[in-house]
Amino acid sequence: MRPEILNPLFCMLDTIKGIGQKHFKLIANLIGGTKIVDLLWHLPYNLTDRTYTCPISKIKTGRIWTGVVRVVEHLPPQKKSQPYRIVCEDETGEIVLNFFKYYKDSLKKQLPVGCEKVISGKTEWFNACIQMNHPDYISEPENFDYIKGVEPIYPFCAGVTNKMMRWYVKQSLVKIPDLAEWCEPGFMKSQNFPSFKKALEKAHNPLVAQDVSPTAPARKRLAYDELLANQLMLAIARGFHKKKEGRSFQSSGVLRKKLFDVLEFELTDAQKNVLQDIINDQSSPYQGLRLIQGDVGCGKTVVAMLAMLGAVECGAQAAMMAPTEILAKQHFETIGAWAEKTGVKAALLTSKIKGKKRLEIFEGLKSGNIDILIGTHALFTDDVHFKDLGFIVVDEQHRFGVEQRLKLSQKGNKPDIIVMTATPIPRTLVLTRFGDMDYSKIDELPRGRKPVDTRVMSVSKVLDVMKALNEKINAGTRIYWVCPLIKENEKSDLAAAVARFEALQKIYGSKVGLVHGKMKENEKDAVMEHFKNGDIQILVATTVIEVGVNVSEATVMIVEQAERFGLSQLHQLRGRIKRGNQAGVCLLLHGDKLSNTARERLNVMKSSEDGFLIAEKDLDLRGGGEILGTRQSGMEEFKVANLEFHKELLYTAHKDAQIILNADPLLKTERGQALRVLLYLFEQDSAFVNYKA
Ligand code: ADP
Ligand code: MG
Repeated sequence: MRPEILNPLFCMLDTIKGIGQKHFKLIANLIGGTKIVDLLWHLPYNLTDRTYTCPISKIKTGRIWTGVVRVVEHLPPQKKSQPYRIVCEDETGEIVLNFFKYYKDSLKKQLPVGCEKVISGKTEWFNACIQMNHPDYISEPENFDYIKGVEPIYPFCAGVTNKMMRWYVKQSLVKIPDLAEWCEPGFMKSQNFPSFKKALEKAHNPLVAQDVSPTAPARKRLAYDELLANQLMLAIARGFHKKKEGRSFQSSGVLRKKLFDVLEFELTDAQKNVLQDIINDQSSPYQGLRLIQGDVGCGKTVVAMLAMLGAVECGAQAAMMAPTEILAKQHFETIGAWAEKTGVKAALLTSKIKGKKRLEIFEGLKSGNIDILIGTHALFTDDVHFKDLGFIVVDEQHRFGVEQRLKLSQKGNKPDIIVMTATPIPRTLVLTRFGDMDYSKIDELPRGRKPVDTRVMSVSKVLDVMKALNEKINAGTRIYWVCPLIKENEKSDLAAAVARFEALQKIYGSKVGLVHGKMKENEKDAVMEHFKNGDIQILVATTVIEVGVNVSEATVMIVEQAERFGLSQLHQLRGRIKRGNQAGVCLLLHGDKLSNTARERLNVMKSSEDGFLIAEKDLDLRGGGEILGTRQSGMEEFKVANLEFHKELLYTAHKDAQIILNADPLLKTERGQALRVLLYLFEQDSAFVNYKA
């Protein structure tokens, strides 16, 4: 339950005076939230200094001036092109207000002759007098002090002016309660941090330009608070998980040895190390949750298999979840063959497997007859019951969040879990998204892998490229021809892919196949099968082959409209032709009109095969959420923190979260109670719900 003290901040926005239905919708859309606290996270990005004031005769024109004036007379325009003019004065001189767009009546009402008003706006010298076009403010003299300040400028949307925004925020700021301090006093002092309440007030009332910079102390304080909440939540999720008693699988390695005896390669050192990490997780009495990161082709599958054998050796079952049916099938081919040679029973379960066969699998899982189950997320539907599931592998699945991970860990009998991903993840993202997990990296490719010869060329060469494939085809090579398929242009993209398929078919006949996301699963499978066994040598594909597909004879890849892909995505794609020991060729075809940035990006692909470096460049160009595909999956970005500026704060928050929970694992001390409030404040309480206090 959210602490009561926070209730005023979690009221709906329309409880604020002035926010009606219309503004409610507009603002909610703008700030991505419907509560008062969401408005408070909406910080100004700039400011307008209205502090300059003096008698009219002393005005230095060109600046924004604020002052109290008396209306002398209205001068309606003689010609259409002229503005409506209103002459005003003080004891020292005159200023003329010009209105180019106006309603005469409302001007008369707003500025009746003889009244006093405070006005603020940019002044200029024109026609031998001081003028102001469309004052930013026209208000009662008693508002002079409010207006004659520094005005924060908010990111705004059509329909809500900055003035209104400011007014709404002002009403929201007074609702901030005095909260017990959760920051460590020494740290606060060293960073020059104000209290939380002061920090928010300050962030919304900047005085100088530095105050709206992400490095201003008030902003840093809020960013730190947010990052601390995030890191605490992850650490709690992790502690909760770890503390959950697990099982201790002490495998001696007899099954692993059997597999080693039949493997046609030696593990790389990196594979060995990561395998050892997992074996340690299995033998520890806690439930393991580990992220395994390794570039495409580094050999994650065999590590997963060896790890699964550890659990199986101890009499438990293991399951491996792949993101697509094709990948599940492919894993089953590899792993099923290995299982057979090791004397272990593996099975495949996808939504396509129905009827009697499905029931047989359910039976085998219940009886314990099946040791290893491969499948899609269908694996974890309610009607699947394991006899004793002790180990779970999630493959290529970086798109799932903390809550899903928690859910998964509740399946089976306190299973250890590994999540494998080929996406190189920068440290900041590891901390903020996967901070609840242990982390291992396979940072080495098997020996003998040849670099891919990547070339960037214009699509105008496409006919030459098509013809040049002849030689490769005669040599038995398999070729991927990738066409983009993006949701927004699905129809035209698909048409382009089909057209390419037909054009290639004219030259190479039945050697050409097509596979795309709109096809039925069994049609896709059939095409992939033909491509694997060589009946088909050119596979025209939309990005369905993006992750994991393994055809070691494939050494050539052509990507059309390569500029439309993300760099990491291209890297994953290119990984498909690096499976064997043959050097691959990758042609990136781009449209005729290529921007400089686009060219630069494609050149990164040409010059590097280091997934990590490519990901960093991609991050520079597109932001973290894009890399992990989290934008689509709705995982939120930070509200205040910006890792471009607050990396160091993240590392600090990470360490602080550890220290805090080590000393006060249940957040029971006085500071612990304050930190609970912080978690609710930033809505990082999801892991907390399960946290028995
Ligand atoms: P990924 O990490 O991208 O999932 P895979 O597990 O599919 O990679 O492995 C890619 C290919 O490399 C497979 O054909 C696999 O058999 C092979 N492989 C894995 N480990 C080694 C190794 N140590 N030496 C040689 N080949 C290996
Ligand atoms: Mg893989």
